[in-house]
Amino acid sequence: MDEMKRTPKILDGIAIAGQIKAEVAVEVQALASRGITPGLAVILVGEVPASQIYVRSKVKTCGELGIFSEMLTPPESISTDEMLALVADLNAREDIDGILIQLPLPKHVDTKRLLEAVSPDKDVDGFHPINAGRLQSGQPGLAPCTPAGIMEILRRSGLPVAGQNAVVVGRSDIVGKPAAMMLLNASATVTVCHSKTADLGSFTREADLLVAAIGRAGFVTADMVKPGATLIDVGINRVTEAAEVEEFFPGDADRAATFAKRGSVVVGDIHPAAFAHSGAYTPVPGGVGALTIAMLMQNTVTAAKLRRGISLGNK
Ligand code: NAP
Repeated sequence: MDEMKRTPKILDGIAIAGQIKAEVAVEVQALASRGITPGLAVILVGEVPASQIYVRSKVKTCGELGIFSEMLTPPESISTDEMLALVADLNAREDIDGILIQLPLPKHVDTKRLLEAVSPDKDVDGFHPINAGRLQSGQPGLAPCTPAGIMEILRRSGLPVAGQNAVVVGRSDIVGKPAAMMLLNASATVTVCHSKTADLGSFTREADLLVAAIGRAGFVTADMVKPGATLIDVGINRVTEAAEVEEFFPGDADRAATFAKRGSVVVGDIHPAAFAHSGAYTPVPGGVGALTIAMLMQNTVTAAKLRRGISLGNK
């Protein structure tokens, strides 16, 4: 049967992120020749090890691409008002084009209020309601990095979106909803599913293009996938039980070695066995996750240009 012979295409997020970063570096050079250096401020509150790792790699990538970056590290005890003052200061600074508040924040800080205090023109995470509105109405703006990365993977891999039946599982403000909006803007026919969706499989089985942003390891199983579909797996889930590793990756010596060394392996929201039925898929790790920092860099340059009224070209 045809289906048995299909070899799915692996959508290499690391390679695509490399292309985007190289293009951003060229844009940064062009701005430098006009005396402009894009600047990103990252606020990292307290000592959350995972956040420290993310922030360090964001700052390092800025350095590689010629983007100025500044890290602000207020203590865990900082109040919402003090954070608002920090953001107000960054909003007013001429040398700062992008402001990123690394989440999660301590419980006593009002995250929503802070995210809304960031100037929409410097909101490189694309979380501000004004930018959500710009995305919805198709105006130039700053879009959330992870779903923007998904669209870049599709575009640069030459995969069709217009007219495709796209199903997004997950409706978070940072992934599911903006991904659905971007797919709609690109003329897909979009269905958004969530935890209250009845008979989820009846929707996912109809998807030419399936985006899974759920946060549950291997939740979308092979029987829920249309043969030949494009599978975009946003999930990053850490599996720490040997039996689960064997269930997700039977006979996979590399995964077993990683597990033996680190005590965990990363699994997406799509069961790895489902990928064999697909036409193309993003691996975990090395798929969607690889794009997020590249898109943040792109957003910082876009913010620098938009703020100065410089054309974005064909972007
Ligand atoms: P989230 O805010 O927890 O949202 C999860 C969504 O999945 C919700 O809309 C929820 O529905 C839905 N859901 C939960 N259980 C479900 C079920 N049984 N059936 C159908 N839908 C269900 O998560 P998120 O921030 O969007 O992140 C999703 C995943 O992507 C996580 O694994 C996260 O680590 C990963 N992620 C990766 C990146 C990256 O690659 N850089 C960035 C962000 C997130 P309700 O709305 O009804 O609760």
